[in-house]
Amino acid sequence: MIVVMNPGAKEKEIKKITDKLEQMGYGVHLSTGENRTVIGVIGQRREEAAQAMEAMPEVEQVVFITRPFKLAGREFHPADTVIKIGDITIGAADLTVMAGPCAIENEEQLLQAAEAVKAGGAKILRAGAFKPRTSPYSFQGLEQEGLDFLKEVRVKTGLLIVTEVMDQFTVDQVTDCADIIQVGARNMQNYYLLRELGKIRKPVLLKRGLSATIEEWLMAAEYILSGGNYEVILCERGIRTFEPYTRNTLDLSAVPLIKQLSHLPIIVDPSHGTGLSGLVPAMSKAALAAGADGLMIEVHPNPQEALSDGPQSLTPKQFQSLLNELKGVALSVGKLI
Ligand code: PEP
Ligand code: MN
Repeated sequence: MIVVMNPGAKEKEIKKITDKLEQMGYGVHLSTGENRTVIGVIGQRREEAAQAMEAMPEVEQVVFITRPFKLAGREFHPADTVIKIGDITIGAADLTVMAGPCAIENEEQLLQAAEAVKAGGAKILRAGAFKPRTSPYSFQGLEQEGLDFLKEVRVKTGLLIVTEVMDQFTVDQVTDCADIIQVGARNMQNYYLLRELGKIRKPVLLKRGLSATIEEWLMAAEYILSGGNYEVILCERGIRTFEPYTRNTLDLSAVPLIKQLSHLPIIVDPSHGTGLSGLVPAMSKAALAAGADGLMIEVHPNPQEALSDGPQSLTPKQFQSLLNELKGVALSVGKLI
């Protein structure tokens, strides 16, 4: 249920309402728009809360949320969620680019990739230390050693770090070195992990599951939000279809649809979305035109030698020219790159 305050409600009036709700045992979530404040009410016995709120002169109206995703939905939080990390903004006018190798292979490879990412103009380095590989015989990632390399590269380059966590037992280990915690497609419905991430206070990048519907994806985000972590970034990375030419089918309609349904920022990963580096530039532009808040792109100093996802990784040069080409598209959709 949400409580819509009268237009221009004063801080004192808002506090009176939130105090009352808290006294009645409800959780509250405040969303302040330009001229309207909306209070999300969390808890059972909603008829009782609605009655009490309708009687308050400071309240304009009480709205019941019809969708199953309560906190992730626009009904609850009409304004876009904007996530700030240092001087980076995700979800506003800026286009956020996260780029780097699929996996950390060694210190030198990571540093070279990071330098390429930085030279291209991106501010966030992606690189996996824990790798969810389809085959147990494939390279599984350097784990803690990889995280240590990430820490060093973070200091050396000033880039922010996004890296994947695979289970609820390693959340502290990954949080210690990452600015954004990535949940991979295969773990989108790992509810123990999602609950644990609801407890932390760092942004979570939630990739869409291999065959997840939009609603399942938003319900997964709801697990994190309902734990009190309101900083969730969604990432469309392609879904499984009957088409074998591409690794996945990049569902770009998810971008404007998510924008209608949810206030959360959404970025697009055209690398996993297509599996082919040759398709990454076109799909990056398309994602931006569709309204994405950012991109996640795999870049490797030498894709042919990559221990994972070489065929979909851009070379440093290709990455740099892509970012240059994106400037024009960004301008036309009112984003800054
Ligand atoms: C990745 O980003 O390295 C990754 C494993 O992606 P996904 O979870 O989307 O397959
Ligand atoms: Mn990958």
